[in-house]
Amino acid sequence: MSCLFCKIAAGEIPAQVVHADADLIAFRDISPVAPTHILLIPREHIPTVNHLEAHHAELVGKLYLRAGELAERLGFADNGYRLVMNANRDGGQTVFHIHLHLLAGRAMQWPPG
Ligand code: 5GP
Ligand code: ZN
Repeated sequence: MSCLFCKIAAGEIPAQVVHADADLIAFRDISPVAPTHILLIPREHIPTVNHLEAHHAELVGKLYLRAGELAERLGFADNGYRLVMNANRDGGQTVFHIHLHLLAGRAMQWPPG
């Protein structure tokens, strides 16, 4: 498996892990675009949102639940934050293992660039 995020999930490539459990792992982005920038990924290799199937519904739900718990734990739940999952070229996806960006620590712009 040559996938970068599978290697991070397996512990073969180091990362600043902030949460890990049987289904998913969360770690700090190597090139943060906000004061807090965390990536939440399923351990299962799913290349893009286009590859999600009905049986992934609970897993995707866990990504969002865990993001909300991290927001509480890290102290920015009330101020707010942004959750983003990019898909393919026009979405700006560069790593083809789905990941939920958790961005916080500054006011976000809308519409996004
Ligand atoms: P995408 O552009 O696919 O939505 O997001 C990929 C993210 O992965 C980017 O924000 C990028 O900075 C991050 N990233 C790429 N390589 C690594 C790495 O080796 N370690 C970590 N922690 N993040 C990475
Ligand atoms: Zn992968």
